[in-house]
Amino acid sequence: MTTLLDGKALAATMRADLAGKVAAFAAAHGRPPALAVVLVGDDPASHVYVASKVKQTAEVGMRSVEHRLDAGCTEADLLALVDALNADPAIDGLLVQLPLPAQIDAASVLNRIDPAKDVDGFHPVNAGKLAIGEPGLVPCTPLGALALARLARPDLAGLHAVVIGRSNIVGKPVAQLLLQENCTVTIAHSRTSDLAGLCRTADLLVAAIGRPLFVTADFIKPGAIVIDVGINRIALADGKSRLVGDVDFAAVAPLADAITPVPGGVGPMTIAFLLSNTLRAASLRLGEP
Ligand code: NAD
Repeated sequence: MTTLLDGKALAATMRADLAGKVAAFAAAHGRPPALAVVLVGDDPASHVYVASKVKQTAEVGMRSVEHRLDAGCTEADLLALVDALNADPAIDGLLVQLPLPAQIDAASVLNRIDPAKDVDGFHPVNAGKLAIGEPGLVPCTPLGALALARLARPDLAGLHAVVIGRSNIVGKPVAQLLLQENCTVTIAHSRTSDLAGLCRTADLLVAAIGRPLFVTADFIKPGAIVIDVGINRIALADGKSRLVGDVDFAAVAPLADAITPVPGGVGPMTIAFLLSNTLRAASLRLGEP
């Protein structure tokens, strides 16, 4: 019997727990934790993501501050805003929604965010801390993927984990987290040879590729845990569209011990960990563990 790893339900449980902790923080410090979200331009998907982040931040009792800049703004405009938010003592967490317009170098912007407020965990200081196993702010989607894998099996030690994808925001940090869980980790990517054969050796398979329904039954060792990070919109014959993951769920689920759905798997967990990172950043900034 395959277990469905329900990210929507787990995220709701996390938010309820966080709401209590946020209330305790506010009672102790006279204000709730505050998250600033910066949105540049008109990308429709980014607008949807930011709206969800802002709404859920408020729902757990945190303060949410949204800043919007025009698509034509300069890198200097955006850096000036980041500097101001870095310097604002009332702001605990700060994220700049990606992607950014072509005239802005995303790395320069991410590197400018105060690592102590970097709730996306993308700053090189936080990436470095994750790599060497020091506490820091860890990217949210990888934390969500790990939490769902641990729902399937609380102790992942000794498993062979294969992560498909080597991006800085998903693949690499997922691999680092699984290494910390004492998995034996293989990172696969677009140049990996015999990808399906390699994946068939995985006890835990994480797909973070960005290609719809790419992982088929041929990639799966029977009894594997399958975590699908992909979010892809595909066109349907009737002119509508639907969201699918990187995994062909219908073909893979019967073989897997446990699998995440898309939507309703890793996606909701990402925002839940953004809220959790914001509370953590606020507590650390005030000298609490
Ligand atoms: P990316 O494009 O930066 O990286 C994709 C990775 O997949 C690359 O490392 C590449 O080597 C690998 N890849 C591409 N084609 C491949 C192939 N044919 N065979 C093997 N490997 C291949 O993407 P990303 O930012 O890491 O995102 C990956 C997916 O996760 C996307 O679908 C994205 O929408 C999704 N995502 C979801 C969340 C969430 O909240 N659930 C958050 C971030 C990203």
